[in-house]
Amino acid sequence: MSDPFAEPRARLLDKLQRDGIDDKAVLDTIARVPREAFVPETFHKHAYDDTALPIDENQTVSQPLVVAMMTQALSLNRRSKVLEVGTGSGYQAAILSQLCRRLYTVERRRGLLNQAEQRFTALGLTNVTTLLTDGYEGWPQQAPFDRIMVTAAAHDVPDPLIEQLADSGVLIAPVGDRIEGQRLVRVTKENGVVGREDLGGVRFVPLVEGIDTSGI
Ligand code: SAH
Repeated sequence: MSDPFAEPRARLLDKLQRDGIDDKAVLDTIARVPREAFVPETFHKHAYDDTALPIDENQTVSQPLVVAMMTQALSLNRRSKVLEVGTGSGYQAAILSQLCRRLYTVERRRGLLNQAEQRFTALGLTNVTTLLTDGYEGWPQQAPFDRIMVTAAAHDVPDPLIEQLADSGVLIAPVGDRIEGQRLVRVTKENGVVGREDLGGVRFVPLVEGIDTSGI
């Protein structure tokens, strides 16, 4: 049977390359992980558009270019132990899981986390561990992490996350209070010295304090 997503997927991969994604491992992973499995059925026809798409509970799955750019900027390797804050649909988590040793992902909304967990199981992703928690606190019991990716914007990078970053670690996070002025920052730690660099403008939903167990 022919794959209805083959053509749009190939078009997306061409676009990502034209837009500067040159990490072959990242491109191969985007080619392999079925984005349609992470979005509501009504959006299947747009699963490979280079746009953010709505998921449940007023949240969004990021634009593929942003997923690719952030993943590339994290400089993952097969030995990395990685924390993602903001599981959402689970799409970014699925991408990260293919490029690292173990992915820990935390989400504050029970309903979204349940759905993401079902997707990880259905796709046979065995190196993903999830937790319902407030990502402002990170996951101290599992720290330190070689890499941390935050996929919702806070006023600034939460201190516990910087503390939970291993030496030689890399953290990527959107920061800024208003959606218009958000910046993506890369934080590094070398011999205990924390460095910071601006990677450009982005738009993410806000990082919200506390957990929400009301979801489906
Ligand atoms: N990485 C996601 C994108 C998620 S959108 C994906 O690939 O689909 C941001 C997510 O962060 C939302 O699901 C939102 O509920 C979650 N979030 C917001 N504040 C949070 C917090 N304090 N702790 C954990 N998750 C949070």
